[in-house]
Amino acid sequence: MENPSEEPNDKSGNCIELLQVMLDGQASNEQRGYFDEHIEKCIYCLKEYNLGSEIKELMRIRASKQPVPKDLINTIRTVVLSAK
Ligand SMILES: [Zn+2]
Repeated sequence: MENPSEEPNDKSGNCIELLQVMLDGQASNEQRGYFDEHIEKCIYCLKEYNLGSEIKELMRIRASKQPVPKDLINTIRTVVLSAK
């Protein structure tokens, strides 16, 4: 019995491509609108997007040599653990 919530909702792969565009900050307004609706029904993208955003933020802070907020680390940990 498969668990659909853990798989990309869109089997064609558009889903993952769109996710990448969103994380890169290259999405058009139309893509953003679509993605906002999409993550309501695609747990896979929601988790990947949240995790991707948190990791991006972490990298940005590391690169600027600022201390990483504990909250951010906790959030990433929570997302990673809940993704299992
Ligand atoms: Zn998706």
